[in-house]
Amino acid sequence: MLTFSAVTASRHVSTNLNNLVPLPPKGSYNTGLTACKPSTLKELLGEPRETYGPECRPVTNPKLKARIVTKSVGPFRVTGLDVAVASLARVLDAIKRHDPDAYAQIGSAGMLCARLVRGSKKSVSNHAWGTAIDLTFGDEVDPRGDGKCQLGLLRVYKHFHAEGWYWGAGFPTEDAMHFELADETVRKLG
Ligand SMILES: [Zn+2]
Repeated sequence: MLTFSAVTASRHVSTNLNNLVPLPPKGSYNTGLTACKPSTLKELLGEPRETYGPECRPVTNPKLKARIVTKSVGPFRVTGLDVAVASLARVLDAIKRHDPDAYAQIGSAGMLCARLVRGSKKSVSNHAWGTAIDLTFGDEVDPRGDGKCQLGLLRVYKHFHAEGWYWGAGFPTEDAMHFELADETVRKLG
């Protein structure tokens, strides 16, 4: 027989948001937003450094470096571009108000990281400018390219979209843990 306290406790057990679910159909998300081209970031912010590899390397461009901040955005601290970190804090505030379960389970696998796109020999990742973040739910990262995403990523997507973040689920090789300031948003925020 369940005791009253057990019943009360069971009501507070939240859904496990690291469960994998199918991605929504292409064209039903990222509406009105375009993935940010590295050329846009180069034009507005300059080149983060001279050479890149597969691992994170330091930003050496002094102008860009001056705009990199480390701050708490609510559930975790991040290092990224000033305007992106401020925008991310607004997104997390919305998640806190509208989806406390997601807020309680969301984590970061990193924002600023001057490196190449995974698997590429020449494309610089948007993480190099600190305008992208990789998110986690639970201990595991979302597997790339499997056409599925962690339920939590699907739940928080709309709050990122509202602030002009492009979801990496729309990349040719799906990267659902990745959100970045869209091209349109970067141009607006400067
Ligand atoms: Zn990423």
